[in-house]
Amino acid sequence: MATLTEFQQQVLAGNKVKNLFVLNCMLFVTELVNQLTDEYDSHPQLFDNMLEFIKNIQEYDRKADSLKFLILFQLGILKETGLQLILHKCVNCKNDFSAKWAEAYFSSQANGIICKDCEASFADKIKLNKEAARCMADLKSIGQASEKNLLEIEKILIYHFTELSGRPPKMAKHILGK
Ligand SMILES: [Zn+2]
Repeated sequence: MATLTEFQQQVLAGNKVKNLFVLNCMLFVTELVNQLTDEYDSHPQLFDNMLEFIKNIQEYDRKADSLKFLILFQLGILKETGLQLILHKCVNCKNDFSAKWAEAYFSSQANGIICKDCEASFADKIKLNKEAARCMADLKSIGQASEKNLLEIEKILIYHFTELSGRPPKMAKHILGK
């Protein structure tokens, strides 16, 4: 993607990026968009959103704020490429997610949240902590999420992107700090 690379260079050269995490977030989203789109399948809206993301994330100083913005953008990429996750109910039995659920799981294969009664039918799944599950089911509550829970959600999304493309995103380790 020649245009994308050129733009990236311009943005990074024209602005002083405040911190390394923000820079890593920018590189990460360009990698994801590149991975999830084909050269001849244009997604003008997604491309515009990505440019907006790259511009706007530079406003954030706190890692938690950058992470929230990154998570919402990643969910947007999935939606825009026809891979929207189902997070407000169990994909299998369609029961709405409730904070009273004793356990919740994420399955990449199922493309979303799986409840305790259905999890046995899904080989690939990650158990979610309660708070992360609640934030994913109700994205409005992500504003109050702690950095720990945001990283938990980000880990799930990276797992999902890894399953989708068959390999971990190169930038993943810089985002999760490992
Ligand atoms: Zn279920």
